[in-house]
Amino acid sequence: MFLELRIGLIQKRKKYAEKLDSLIDQIKRSEYVAFTDSIPLDLDNNTKEKVLHCHSERIAITFALINMLVGKPITVKKNLTVCVDCHSAIKFMSKVVSWEKDNCEGQ
Ligand SMILES: [Zn+2]
Repeated sequence: MFLELRIGLIQKRKKYAEKLDSLIDQIKRSEYVAFTDSIPLDLDNNTKEKVLHCHSERIAITFALINMLVGKPITVKKNLTVCVDCHSAIKFMSKVVSWEKDNCEGQ
């Protein structure tokens, strides 16, 4: 029982990670450029981008995209300020997902 539950969680985590990676690839093709200055740490830009892509807002949106009906609005509430890069990334995600939805409806 515990092992089955654990395997199920690992599979879900993998599914979310793949969806988030796919979303990030799509927004990068839509001219999104990470604003790495949002991370005030002494890290290289690739590492800063990876840190930015793990912000809770993006994970919440990925979760909603996998688990909600297509076309339903997604509302993410947070008790802290959204960083500049998440604000930009979410705008691009919205455009990319709208594009996906429009193309799916035409098929
Ligand atoms: Zn952020």
